[in-house]
Amino acid sequence: MRELILCKYGEIVLKGLNRGTFESELMRNVRRRLKPLGNISLRSSQSTLYVEPLNDNIDMDEVMERLKKVYGITKLSRAVGVEKDVKRIFEVAYERFGDALKNAKTFKVAAKRSDKKFYLTSPELAAQIGGMLLEKFPHLKVDLFEPEITIVCEIRDEGAFVHDIAVDGAGGIPVGTSGQALLLLSGGIDSPVAGCMMAKRGVVISAIHFEAPPYTSERALMKVERLAEKMSEYCGRICFYTVPFTKIQEEIRNNCPEDYFTLIMRRLMMEIAQRIAEKNHLQALITGESLGQVASQTMAAMVTTDAVCRIPVFRPCIGLDKKEIIDISYKLGTFEISIEPYEDCCTVFTPKHPRTKPTLGDVEAAQAKFDFEQLISEAVENTRVKTIKAY
Ligand code: ATP
Ligand code: MG
Repeated sequence: MRELILCKYGEIVLKGLNRGTFESELMRNVRRRLKPLGNISLRSSQSTLYVEPLNDNIDMDEVMERLKKVYGITKLSRAVGVEKDVKRIFEVAYERFGDALKNAKTFKVAAKRSDKKFYLTSPELAAQIGGMLLEKFPHLKVDLFEPEITIVCEIRDEGAFVHDIAVDGAGGIPVGTSGQALLLLSGGIDSPVAGCMMAKRGVVISAIHFEAPPYTSERALMKVERLAEKMSEYCGRICFYTVPFTKIQEEIRNNCPEDYFTLIMRRLMMEIAQRIAEKNHLQALITGESLGQVASQTMAAMVTTDAVCRIPVFRPCIGLDKKEIIDISYKLGTFEISIEPYEDCCTVFTPKHPRTKPTLGDVEAAQAKFDFEQLISEAVENTRVKTIKAY
């Protein structure tokens, strides 16, 4: 009995004429993630992706774990395929669930029929299989509401499937169906969450990180790269840009009023990020900002940073509490990395009393004390790029 995994699509089903594109992006993403695990066949039919190993030594637990991180899949279940014959369906259910049923007190058979030509209705099929199992295990009771074990029998066009109860997938729509954007990625908790939230809505993510050696260390950069690698389990391959930011930060410190350090720094980060974005045909920026979280994330502060932006800036965490962001980060698996204590360039020259209600005019006047253009072009020119992906 070789197992396969059935993956149900979510919103792809609603996409009408674009559905073909959505399905092929999803298949491509799944194929990339599963390739290192061996020879696996993928087939799409009736809003379901069939993931079937072609040899016996494939680690199906790992296949399942990887599929749970692919955006565009809402439900997954491990199943065994069998002929559309009640006796055979029973035999497979018995073989697959027999041991568990021996030790259980309650169970239920749920039946679904997407092949409407099958000669039994769903309730009839459930009753027959349930009855046959009860004959084998007379100690069992049927419990339709809180059964210890649920056995799902599904009659589809291509055959019958006996499977465990479905588990939740990552949801969303496939990466690659919503354009490309550049994520400002720090080593913190919020920005990896922001990147994955946008990937979940189909965006291909590139990442840009600002480093300020010797104020920030090589190990701090490696931590951010590990974050990107973790993210790529969900987002796919990530183009990762590292910007040398030290000179700019030093000139801010040497020339501008201290209260405005952070705001000017953020405006210059946005300027550099969008130049890299424009050069590489990325259509928008993404940050991990959340309204009111720190001085540079008040509405007045964001007005002054947005004033330098020529392309859209997406801030998916904007309305989330820190606790909610942490919950997502924990689920993604980025939290453990994010909380490792390394310095970030944002914390290098922090003002004692940052402005929380700056006006655009004040910030522009503060920034005008030095001409940053030359340093901005140098930073863009000296930006390094590499590809990061999870294996
Ligand atoms: P995070 O957890 O993402 O670090 P934070 O609350 O610490 O968020 P800030 O340090 O104020 O926020 O930064 C706000 C946003 O600016 C970050 O979410 C990120 O998008 C971007 N950012 C901050 N530092 C860097 C950096 N060194 N490189 C790239 N982007 C950065
Ligand atoms: Mg930060």
